[in-house]
Amino acid sequence: MLTSTIAPAPAATAAAPAPVRPSYRPFAVSVAGIRRLSDTFTRVTFTGPDLHDFGTVGLDQRVKVILPLPEVGISPLPDDESWYQAWRLLPDTHRNPIRTYTVRAVRPAAREIDIDFVAHGEAGPASRWVTHAAIGDELTIVGPNALGENPHSGVEWRPGDARSVLLAGDETAAPAICAILAALPRDARGCAFIEVPHEADAMDTAAPDGVQVTWLARAKAAGQHGTALEAAVRDWTTRSVSMAETGPALPVGRLADVDIEHDILWEVPEETHRGADLYAWLAGEAGVIKTLRRFLVSETGIDRRQVAFMGYWRAGHAEAN
Ligand SMILES: Cc1cc2nc3c(=O)[nH]c(=O)nc-3n(C[C@H](O)[C@H](O)[C@H](O)COP(=O)(O)OP(=O)(O)OC[C@H]3O[C@@H](n4cnc5c(N)ncnc54)[C@H](O)[C@@H]3O)c2cc1C
Repeated sequence: MLTSTIAPAPAATAAAPAPVRPSYRPFAVSVAGIRRLSDTFTRVTFTGPDLHDFGTVGLDQRVKVILPLPEVGISPLPDDESWYQAWRLLPDTHRNPIRTYTVRAVRPAAREIDIDFVAHGEAGPASRWVTHAAIGDELTIVGPNALGENPHSGVEWRPGDARSVLLAGDETAAPAICAILAALPRDARGCAFIEVPHEADAMDTAAPDGVQVTWLARAKAAGQHGTALEAAVRDWTTRSVSMAETGPALPVGRLADVDIEHDILWEVPEETHRGADLYAWLAGEAGVIKTLRRFLVSETGIDRRQVAFMGYWRAGHAEAN
């Protein structure tokens, strides 16, 4: 045991506690590059004076994009964790819309990050913004602080030591799936299904050889949103996953309903249990993900502690803040 003869410092001279460094904080940015990758995807490169401090974990790292308002621009917010409270207190006319996106790439040395936006018309402020975006446009991105206490906040990908992976999602999940595929260990095994509007939306991925990537074009399948994805996941699961391998940890039928008209579908394991055969990650339109959740958990019996289900958006509903 260590002992010390040094008397404790009197309280009056005790050092002030170090300021808490926020894990997630606003970064002022402007548009440095715009690449229309396809009719669906636009890659926007942002630059900002503090982006060398942006967290670099990657994977499905989510950020909040604070979008400009006409006549107002971006209302000033504190650059620490009190930003959200300050945003809520803004008058309606000055409260900027906030939407959730994935960091597609981070280059701290160049003070740049990329986000791949899906353009889906003029219906939402984010889609409208990216459709008309121009070099020099300013906005704010709330994201991970490399100097913060927990620079990993906002990442849901937690495969543990699962022996294989299943990734499935629509175009809004494509940036996250591509970033995850690029980061997988080179001996990883499994598959990814990505449903996009058109064949030309398919992108190169840096997936390991053992992970098969399938892009599903909605236009080609002539189906509704999610039809091709559901069929592909059902087919793969039926062929690849047996009940004996997964074993239902929760009795089939115990799956609580999620009312996606009012609640967000967001069910992610804190930690995947060890020795799992499969870890599955599913994100996209909430109704589609809810159907796949029912199939994987209730019908197939896959342990919920091995699956992340995330409703990234809900048809007919604007993102709630
Ligand atoms: C963790 C997370 C990560 C995400 N990452 C990305 C990403 O990297 N890239 C990306 O493009 N999106 C991503 N999304 C989805 C994105 O946040 C939503 O699509 C968001 O609703 C878009 O905002 P908006 O202002 O364009 O539309 P909103 O104002 O939210 O909605 C307006 C209308 O448009 C509809 N709508 C919203 N999104 C779509 C869509 N994609 N296609 C068709 N109709 C739509 C809504 O149902 C609503 O009727 C992510 C979401 C989450 C939760």
